[in-house]
Amino acid sequence: MTDHTHADTLRTPIVAVLGHVDHGKTSLLDTIRGSAVSEGEAGAITQHIGATDIPLDTISGMAGELIDPSDFDLPGLLFIDTPGHHSFSTLRARGGALADIAVLVVDVNDGFQPQTEEAIDILRRTGTPFVVAANKVDTTPGWNPQDGEPIQKSMDAQSERAKSMLDENLYEIIGQLSDAGFSADLYWRVQDFQKNIGVVPLSALTAEGVPDLLTVLMGLSQRFMKEEMAIDVTGPGEGTVLEVKDERGFGATVDTVVYDGVIRNGDTVVVGGQNEPIVTEIRALLRPRPLAEIRTEKQFEKVGEIGAAAGVKIAAPDLDDAMAGAPVRVVRDRTVDQVVEEVKAELAEIEVETSENGVVVKADTLGSLEAMANALREAEVPILRAEVGDIAPRDIAVAETANQDEHKAILGFNVDLLKNAESDLENADVKLFKNEVIYQLVEDYERYVEEKQRAQQ
Ligand code: GDP
Repeated sequence: MTDHTHADTLRTPIVAVLGHVDHGKTSLLDTIRGSAVSEGEAGAITQHIGATDIPLDTISGMAGELIDPSDFDLPGLLFIDTPGHHSFSTLRARGGALADIAVLVVDVNDGFQPQTEEAIDILRRTGTPFVVAANKVDTTPGWNPQDGEPIQKSMDAQSERAKSMLDENLYEIIGQLSDAGFSADLYWRVQDFQKNIGVVPLSALTAEGVPDLLTVLMGLSQRFMKEEMAIDVTGPGEGTVLEVKDERGFGATVDTVVYDGVIRNGDTVVVGGQNEPIVTEIRALLRPRPLAEIRTEKQFEKVGEIGAAAGVKIAAPDLDDAMAGAPVRVVRDRTVDQVVEEVKAELAEIEVETSENGVVVKADTLGSLEAMANALREAEVPILRAEVGDIAPRDIAVAETANQDEHKAILGFNVDLLKNAESDLENADVKLFKNEVIYQLVEDYERYVEEKQRAQQ
């Protein structure tokens, strides 16, 4: 029986960081982690597997006058460490995106770029609330850093020239958000964050504005997502695989974000696999040690149990075929068969509509496969087969069965061509497209089709 004494605890909201390449996603995550480490007690902030937990105390320490911690009962924020919408779409739960809230990073000098648009599409489709981080304000000519000041004060303290240049860039971004159908404004002017997108000017380099961003994320979660954060912490754990990794001494392990319930060492779990759901027993739950300790000692410590929301590495037999983006479910209070059916049903939801003739699509995660399928549907490109995983000989064989020339193609998103498939590809009349950007992959294929058609005329 489930113990309900701790039912309805509030979990940490899960935050994903998206945006165009080089706009500063990685730097922003590093700065958030770095500031949190220097703010908290040494070693208190651990970079957890796949995700970093920033407790409310730490945020309020960083944000000073911006925040009154007594206004909040959510425990903090959990940042997914891998930036980009690729990781965002990995995070799925019951057919939706799992990240509760997102930060869209836009280089203040560069404005909207193709991957910004792509990220916006994903956010719109999944209905994910988001905040815009207008990054690199420090690159404004004549910028004069104001340590520890709220960003609004920092901006006020700049020269007239710097102020007007920054304003111009910020209003450009606000205009671009408006073109994309979102009403947006500088965050201190936003009254209702559910109706308006808050834009937070900041610098991942100097950390100016970063406390403001954390404050806005905290406020947004507290005001609008509190109900969704209520979980039964004693219930059977539910999570999503972020990554499958070989770990010395443990074999294949899965980095998992646990978003509901509790996972304990020794639990039987069902994990979504390439072919069938995997039923296995947890051999170890692992968390990395604080950064200082990692440098001197072994990286992981074993923990007895993990409660949502948190990142953890699960070591268990038979995880080789586990799939990024697939569900992880603890078997408790139900039979193994029931949980297997549940995992199957969840995976079936993302099955892509295929036709008898079309391209073969391979992607690294279920979420990215789904995003690829959506992009191809919009471009009216039919799909013969869509699967998670690297490109194998049988994918080439399948692609060859397409009976129209332009369809004899494989579109690989964030995957590799397996060594044993290389010669098959050379000998086959199949064109391979690989890219880490969805729109480019689709565009490359469309251009190829056009050229082929033109050559035939
Ligand atoms: P990502 O591709 O979005 O993860 O971008 P990165 O975090 O790797 O940043 C791309 C480049 O921009 C790097 O050279 C960073 O050092 C630089 N950068 C990121 N944020 C800032 C910032 O706030 N100010 C300045 N001056 N440079 C930044």
